Amino acid sequence: METLTGILKSKNLKVTPQRLAIFSILYNTKSHPSAEDIYKSLQDTNPTMSLATVYKTLDCFKKNDLVQEFNVGEDSFRYDINVGSHPHLICTECHKVSDMDSSILDNIREEVSKETDFKLVNEQLYFYGICPNCQ
Ligand SMILES: [Zn+2]
Ligand SMILES: [Zn+2]
Repeated sequence: METLTGILKSKNLKVTPQRLAIFSILYNTKSHPSAEDIYKSLQDTNPTMSLATVYKTLDCFKKNDLVQEFNVGEDSFRYDINVGSHPHLICTECHKVSDMDSSILDNIREEVSKETDFKLVNEQLYFYGICPNCQ
């Protein structure tokens, strides 16, 4: 927990048990949970935490570049502690969201800036399909 506390402090955020609990969940998963997912997984350990607190905390993390928020076509947003640009793979059956290595972006970036004369700063790339488990 020492490092998580350190990360929050480095953003000048007050370290509260709620913030630490939510940050720790995001830090220890690659599943790109929604606010509801986080809320549910905290019910055993933090039964007093409200969904509103989870939303408020995620919003605070987002403003401080500790998480990225994105929508994959569901009702709710997903959260990712990996704030660097990286492509995502989304299963349209089980809605699992996985990370892809960002190195495949290198060629795409080059192509796009050559084609458009844009000075690119960021990109979002999603691949939709049916994962091996659901096939
Ligand atoms: Zn699937
Ligand atoms: Zn991701």
